[in-house]
Amino acid sequence: MSREPLIDGHGRSIRDVRVSVTDRCNFRCQYCMPAEGLPWLERDGVLRFEEIERIVRVLVEMGVTDVRLTGGEPLVRRDFPVLARMMAGIEGLEDLSLTTNGYLLERDADALADAGIRRLNVSIDSLQNDRFFEMTRRDSLPQVLRGLEAVARRPELAPVKVNAVAMRGFTEQEVLPFAQFAREGSFQVRFIEFMPLDGDRGWTPDQVLTGDELRKIVHAVHPLEECPREPSATARTFRFADGRGHIGFINPISEPFCSDCNRIRLTADGKLRTCLFSMHETDLRTPLRDGADDDELEWIVRDAVWRKELKHRVGEKGFRQPARSMSAIGG
Ligand code: SAM
Ligand code: SF4
Repeated sequence: MSREPLIDGHGRSIRDVRVSVTDRCNFRCQYCMPAEGLPWLERDGVLRFEEIERIVRVLVEMGVTDVRLTGGEPLVRRDFPVLARMMAGIEGLEDLSLTTNGYLLERDADALADAGIRRLNVSIDSLQNDRFFEMTRRDSLPQVLRGLEAVARRPELAPVKVNAVAMRGFTEQEVLPFAQFAREGSFQVRFIEFMPLDGDRGWTPDQVLTGDELRKIVHAVHPLEECPREPSATARTFRFADGRGHIGFINPISEPFCSDCNRIRLTADGKLRTCLFSMHETDLRTPLRDGADDDELEWIVRDAVWRKELKHRVGEKGFRQPARSMSAIGG
């Protein structure tokens, strides 16, 4: 079935949904979650697989083509590959991807590839054990690297992207080892600017190490050439001038890409968010559980999307960090 396309009040077509499948996580990254964790959602409050499938199917009928499964840590959700397979079976869905911290990839890589995941982002902030521990508060780099080896054995998952959050005072030392890692060829590395979505609510503008600063550090050692940018792409991608690999920079703070944002988000408890920084969410779980039919769901979504924020206000006077932090939204 097909429905009218999903368009916001600023004329942007919505093609991409990020679905958080859990707010729980086995890591405690500095820029995301407090060391002690967060109060988890009650299990009953988390959308069941059939509920996620139903919402995503209605979205796909409205023209969404890309679904990224995320969290919290998606692979800690029991039977996650079953959900991935359900998503892959939705007619009209073109691109099914996953963002993970990689801890469980050694266990799950085959099941994910078999289920139909076709693109994978793995978050790694340092390639050194002690510094990885400092950032994630978990001594798990070797486990994550074994996960990368497992995904490298599945060509359906290539090219795998490795994402690092860039923080001033930390990532300056990481950028050249990561560039070397990208030049070895198997993985595309991307840096994401630190956003005010941390669970500790300690973000300050001076902690943002910009993509441009990082690019210059790399370029001075390994000259870079920019690749053409696809519409709605979040990353600026560069190839190494000698042809060995790619590196990218996602710069939501220094170079916001809101004007061609085509994304919405569904939280693990069934709230629709039209911006990472939304101060307002739309509840889909209650109508779903109260028996709303697909047409009613469509109109609730349409109404919320119509009011999608023009842009984020980070850096502007009066900006307030949303109540939910990144792990509870779904990055
Ligand atoms: N647990 C999975 C992971 O870490 O890949 C998926 C969820 S995580 C919230 C999704 C992405 O958000 C990760 O790449 C993470 O590094 C990024 N992230 C978390 N907090 C962030 C922040 N404050 N600023 C920028 N990126 C952040
Ligand atoms: Fe967990 Fe991902 Fe947040 Fe790190 S960034 S604490 S791995 S949800």
